[in-house]
Amino acid sequence: PLVLGIETSCDETGIGVVRGRTLLSNTIASSMDEHARYGGVVPEVAARAHLEALQPSIEAALAEAGVGLDDLDAVAVTSGPGLAGALMVGVGAAKGLAVSLGKPLYAVNHLVGHIAADILTADSEPLEYPTIALLVSGGHTSLLHVRDLTTDVELLGETMDDAAGEAFDKVARLLSLPYPGGPEIDRAALDGDPDAIRFPRGLSRASDLAKHRYDFSFSGLKTAVARWVERCEADGVEVPVADVAASFREAVVDVLVAKALAACADLGVPRLLLGGGVIANRRLRDVALERAAAAGVTVRIPPLSLCTDNGAMIAALAAELISAGRQPSTLAFGADSTLPVTEIQVGEAVRA
Ligand code: ATP
Ligand code: MG
Ligand code: FE
Repeated sequence: PLVLGIETSCDETGIGVVRGRTLLSNTIASSMDEHARYGGVVPEVAARAHLEALQPSIEAALAEAGVGLDDLDAVAVTSGPGLAGALMVGVGAAKGLAVSLGKPLYAVNHLVGHIAADILTADSEPLEYPTIALLVSGGHTSLLHVRDLTTDVELLGETMDDAAGEAFDKVARLLSLPYPGGPEIDRAALDGDPDAIRFPRGLSRASDLAKHRYDFSFSGLKTAVARWVERCEADGVEVPVADVAASFREAVVDVLVAKALAACADLGVPRLLLGGGVIANRRLRDVALERAAAAGVTVRIPPLSLCTDNGAMIAALAAELISAGRQPSTLAFGADSTLPVTEIQVGEAVRA
């Protein structure tokens, strides 16, 4: 099926067009520049930016795909999780588009969309089930057990406080580096020693593992960095930014990879899929590949343009649902900022 996907859960207005498992176009307009001076995504600003970017983005995505609105078999949209106002703009636009064109509408889960991104990776074998998936971005840090993309995704664990990308952003600010912090920390860490400072690995003690084996926590790490910076200032010594950045990044990467591979081992699943904007981190990719190889686990990493928020992954998930024989969503659904990952599709119509 030819599907147009609309993604507006955070700061990216993502419009993608797919034909089945083939990617035709994937346009992304980000309002990140507008949020930079606030040091984080401002929900109202994001929602307004989506409103302005949607129409031109849809036109650009269709043009690039070489198809027209009438050619579409379905429209797909992210229903949640994400920023309520931002989601609402996308949901409203998708409903309007579907109704005016008389096309079926599929409301889908953003997190499962991140997994569906893998399907569009042209030069690889199809995703095998079951697989463990680690999704790390500015808004989420989730470990999933995927038995089937369209029917069975289980949440193994998630962050108890900050998301991994958020931790990068907050620590960058502590080090007086600009927002978004991920790339800045990466750059600062280039000349740093990752073993210079032993920062805490959240929820990794034996006592924590009993209850939070697959959960993450980055707020203690952030506080530890803050203490370090304060102590340097109190002692009147310059903050060793490169060493702090490298050691912080190592702590994040270490715990992400350790918990993901623990899930693979515990559940006997020798496959790990990575997704989310934090995958841009070279060190994370390298450590994941290295330790997974040692553990006999295959790692899949979609290209970065499909790892960050985008509309193509939303369209791809809907295309899978259609191929699996699922009914479209009724128009009764809305934006759900806390949609659980188990709800792969929202508001599926009851088969007549
Ligand atoms: P969502 O959580 O809904 O997926 P988001 O917009 O917050 O949305 P992404 O756009 O996928 O997430 O990723 C942005 C995050 O990734 C930011 O927190 C940014 O700091 C982080 N990031 C980007 N590049 C890197 C990097 N090289 N290393 C670490 N983190 C990075
Ligand atoms: Mg983003
Ligand atoms: Fe996302």
